[in-house]
Amino acid sequence: MDIRAKKSLGQNFLKDESVLQRIASSFDVTRNDLIIEIGPGMGALTKFLVQKPSDLLCYEIDERLKNTLLPFQKENVQIIFDDFLKRDIQSDLHKDYQNIYVIANIPYYITTPIIEHIMESNLPINGMTLLVQKEVASRFSAKPKTKDYGYFTVFLQHFFTVQVLFDVAPQAFTPPPKVTSSVVQLIRKTDIVCLDELKFFEFLKQAFAQKRKTLKNNLKMYDWNKILQVLNKYGLSENARAEELSYEAFVAIFRCL
Ligand code: SAH
Repeated sequence: MDIRAKKSLGQNFLKDESVLQRIASSFDVTRNDLIIEIGPGMGALTKFLVQKPSDLLCYEIDERLKNTLLPFQKENVQIIFDDFLKRDIQSDLHKDYQNIYVIANIPYYITTPIIEHIMESNLPINGMTLLVQKEVASRFSAKPKTKDYGYFTVFLQHFFTVQVLFDVAPQAFTPPPKVTSSVVQLIRKTDIVCLDELKFFEFLKQAFAQKRKTLKNNLKMYDWNKILQVLNKYGLSENARAEELSYEAFVAIFRCL
């Protein structure tokens, strides 16, 4: 069946079988696990994921793909035709899983909202393998003092170890996107720092609010003297900007406030 790709839905269908296979096999799963796929499209990745022993839960917004995707449905494979961002993922699950993984070639126009929605679901996600725009992958895995380092980098680092696995050229898709893509893997840390996450992320957002400004400017609502003491411990001056601080330094500052 011929489906015209909708740009507005970020439809770039991956056709490179070896790339698909590498993505699908990026996590070893058992029958007590669940894989979540967002945007299965024509099922290019899905056909590999259904071969795994785990359950599979897919979310696809485009109902034109029903004829293509519904044949994949079976006892341990569920396909929901809806906007992933509007779903309460917890209530879509019918049992408790040992491990939950997200493996997906997601629509690029909502990469960050998808990850935020997953994190807000409070599900114990063990890992994610995502195909994203290369520049987005660089942001996810950026080191301090680089242009790509920002709020989202530190947010992800709180939960995950982030690794870019490999790049994927535009020709691997139909239609080819304008940008190079990368497969990025997020693996849940076993020692996630225990803190008030909502407050911590609020604090991080403030710290990065205006990138060109110093921390002192961005964090006016907090006790600057306490912050300065921690900055000094990390070898930073009072003119430091958020982009110079490691994840550990942010945690140390947050904890002293
Ligand atoms: N994974 C497929 C398709 C990638 S294209 C492949 O590798 O070939 C992105 C897919 O995400 C499209 O099928 C598109 O319809 C779907 N999509 C876009 N927005 C979505 C949303 N909000 N919720 C669920 N699926 C969405």
